[in-house]
Amino acid sequence: MNAFVDMKKSEYALVAYSNVTAKSKERKALEKAVKKWLKHPGNKIQPVQSKQSESMAHGNQRAYKRMGCRCEVCVTWAISSGFVKTKPKSEIKRGPDERQLRIQAQKQGLDRFAQVFKEDWQLLAFEIGYAITAFQLERVYLGKSEIDQYFTWKYVKKVADQLVAEKLKANGGV
Ligand SMILES: [Zn+2]
Repeated sequence: MNAFVDMKKSEYALVAYSNVTAKSKERKALEKAVKKWLKHPGNKIQPVQSKQSESMAHGNQRAYKRMGCRCEVCVTWAISSGFVKTKPKSEIKRGPDERQLRIQAQKQGLDRFAQVFKEDWQLLAFEIGYAITAFQLERVYLGKSEIDQYFTWKYVKKVADQLVAEKLKANGGV
């Protein structure tokens, strides 16, 4: 456990106070030193040049290692030069999440129906008693949406598969 956590409040306040005092002493000493330094001819305070605003060459050792730049160019350099083996974790594109996988699975679940019935979503909507509308079915098939209730999806899929099976049977099988 952190020693600070156990420290009593009064003790903590004392430490905080002494820190503040130390800092203000340092600040005063610094102010003095600066004043003294400014008295010398030629000494002048100038705004700090930001390193980022410097036009910096990317895709080299200096940019990647010393400046710590992780732009596309620098990362590509680091990999091609063998300095690192893989892209930094944040750069790696994540795979689809749970919802995207579900959307994908439902889209594929409607594939056979879409092929056999030429995307007749009105028919499917009618057959499932409009548990889901034709518009929603089309969106699911386009991968733009999902049927978020599992039992509803199971029902839609079951009816769609039945329709496909019946039609294929009527056509003498495949
Ligand atoms: Zn860079």
